[in-house]
Amino acid sequence: MLKAVGIDLGGTFIKGALVNEHGTIEKKEEIPTQAENGPADILQRIEAMVHRLCGVENHPADVISGVGIGVPGFVDDETGIAVEVVNLGWRDVPVVEPLSTKLHVPVYMDNDANAAALGEAWVGAGRNHKSAVLVTLGTGVGGGIVIAGRVLRGAFAMAGEIGHLRMEHEGAHCNCGGIGCLETVSSATGVVRLAQVAIAAGKPTSLPSASLTAADVFQAREQGDEVAIEVVNKAMDTLARALSMVAVVVNPEVFVIGGGMAKAGTAITESLQQFFSTYALPRIAALTKIELATLGNDAGIVGAARLALFA
Ligand SMILES: [Zn+2]
Repeated sequence: MLKAVGIDLGGTFIKGALVNEHGTIEKKEEIPTQAENGPADILQRIEAMVHRLCGVENHPADVISGVGIGVPGFVDDETGIAVEVVNLGWRDVPVVEPLSTKLHVPVYMDNDANAAALGEAWVGAGRNHKSAVLVTLGTGVGGGIVIAGRVLRGAFAMAGEIGHLRMEHEGAHCNCGGIGCLETVSSATGVVRLAQVAIAAGKPTSLPSASLTAADVFQAREQGDEVAIEVVNKAMDTLARALSMVAVVVNPEVFVIGGGMAKAGTAITESLQQFFSTYALPRIAALTKIELATLGNDAGIVGAARLALFA
């Protein structure tokens, strides 16, 4: 059976899995990223991880057809260079060439949101659909567009970067250098920021001002906290408005909502669906599904493996 290794390179952990052609994980592991040691060290430990996952000391080609890797930043999929990875402090780091030289198997790279989108579209929430847009709500807002089993990358591998749709003219500063990007409002970080602004303004709330998380805000919302309701509404309203725009360009069958914040479950999809129907064209509002991701943290490794399995 055809197999590949999928790697999900994150700011905190490097996850890897041996995945077969049906999308089943046969073996997986996770190691700390230790970004401070620099790219050469990370690539070397990824190489060792691939060998362990394949159960060989040499020649992973005996076990796998290739390696796919999802990187948390902007990539150049033609040159195999990670162009800018803020979390890791990387700029123009060659990834594909050094890994494929060491491992003697083809290596494919994409950004982590695209890899996760491919995983969900393949064997997750999008598996029965011809087109899906995955939206990852975490520290930022990631996006990936999959049409007929292929990621839409665009001319400069920037397609699907929906977290940087500018939703507010006078909003908060974004990591990308822009202002008012979707992810400054609708990510977990954005939800916490909005809640902190409300708390600082002295609005009555049960929310703690210190070590506040997006999960706290969703929980307080369930209990009827006014500030939490207002904050979540703003985050979901803004995201729904962004999705209504994505929908007229891409017209996907389904939006799949993943990432840490998706743990809030149907509280997110129901609210989104409601706002989405007020912004989207009626035919789009009636037919487009909004569903929760089903692969959780495995979406990235499964999707990365898919890159190599059906390249
Ligand atoms: Zn931005």
